[in-house]
Amino acid sequence: MDWAFDEANRDAEVEAVDLPEYVGLRTAFKFVCPAEICRCLLNHAIPEKRVPYFRTWPGHNHHPDCDIDGAQKLVSKARRERLDTRDEKNFAACPARLVLKVHREVVDSEAAVSGSAGRTKAARDHQGDGESQSSGNSRRTVGTIRHICRAFLNYPHNRDQSLSIPGIDGHSYLSAFKKIPWEGLGQYPSRKIFYAPLHWSKFKVDENSIEISLDAGLRENKKLIDGHKVIVDWSDWSKAKRTVLQKELEGRLEEAKEAAGTKKKAWLFFIGEQDSADRRYFRVDDSRLICCFVDELIWVSY
Ligand SMILES: [Zn+2]
Repeated sequence: MDWAFDEANRDAEVEAVDLPEYVGLRTAFKFVCPAEICRCLLNHAIPEKRVPYFRTWPGHNHHPDCDIDGAQKLVSKARRERLDTRDEKNFAACPARLVLKVHREVVDSEAAVSGSAGRTKAARDHQGDGESQSSGNSRRTVGTIRHICRAFLNYPHNRDQSLSIPGIDGHSYLSAFKKIPWEGLGQYPSRKIFYAPLHWSKFKVDENSIEISLDAGLRENKKLIDGHKVIVDWSDWSKAKRTVLQKELEGRLEEAKEAAGTKKKAWLFFIGEQDSADRRYFRVDDSRLICCFVDELIWVSY
């Protein structure tokens, strides 16, 4: 599993990739399955060369009716066929909007005295919701692009679902995302969630930034000779946050190498500005606006 709730911290939603930073900042944590009916105890793993993950402890299985298992079945269906858009339950995992909040530690005395309402609030705050959840649309609001990109991969036949991201041209999954083509060095003046596969080459890392090469750009006999690159300016990030991103990228590259020969690739997703003087480069400076998944990208024409 790649996300869980931390019961010891009022059900904060924790992404597996964030584990090195998350556990480093806390003395107490207890990870559980986020499904209300299940909440089985989860173990976490932070392997040296792989992306961190959650898994069940021996003897602590998911509840037979666990929503998370249900979601997995739903996802395999969603990857095969279009889901009925009239049934909101089908799209509980598809975020409707991204809201970037100014970061703050949630201190909520009401929630601290526990009670499920308090817990729900804490979990909502962690996602960066606010009151928009009750606007009649049950699809959720998120605080990073991660769940949005996961939904883009998992619901290929429903990419016409609405999506609102501040500053992005496009109001559906279909129009908010833009693939950087395999061939050519293009110019992309519209602000989108860009995506392309990672190139095999090493990441260039220093105090101020990490440079990520994409498998997209100028080619000669199919070989990449001058590719697009994403420069993440992390000069004002904590060391832990830098480690999280670097580890995620290196782990995904390893996963992608192991998946060579299959249809899976390491897809980098990001919201960034293209350099106006040198179109090869894109710049990103917010850790909430970049993520990477190893997956098959399913193409569907609309
Ligand atoms: Zn479960």
